[in-house]
Formats: sequence, C-alpha cells, structure tokens
Amino acid sequence: MPDNTRPRPICAHCDGFPQVAITTGQTTPTGHRQTITADCPACNGTGHTSPARAYARTGA
Ligand SMILES: [Zn+2]
Repeated sequence: MPDNTRPRPICAHCDGFPQVAITTGQTTPTGHRQTITADCPACNGTGHTSPARAYARTGA
C-alpha cells in the first residue's frame, strides 16, 4: 500500500524524540543514577503523529 511507504509526519509535541530519560536524583544499589523513561503522550512514544482514523475507531 502507498500509505506504508510514505513517511509519517513527525510528532509536533515531541519533535520526533518521544522517549526521554528522566533522572530521579536517586542512585540504584549498584551506584548508577536511576532514570525513568517517559513516552510522549501525544504520539504514545512513536515519534510520529497517528492517522486521524486511528482515533476515530476508538470507542466506537
Ligand atoms: Zn510525540
């Protein structure tokens, strides 16, 4: 299908970087800094905007 070869638009909310590591300020028992990963809520961590029809089907 042509839609699969066409690049999807970059998510405007995260500018294409949907996952960010956040330091919690604590260290793990092994001495490493503890981080948590947060996904972009707008694109659910994909980095691209989803087709509108994906939302249209939700809850139908
Ligand atoms: Zn995003």
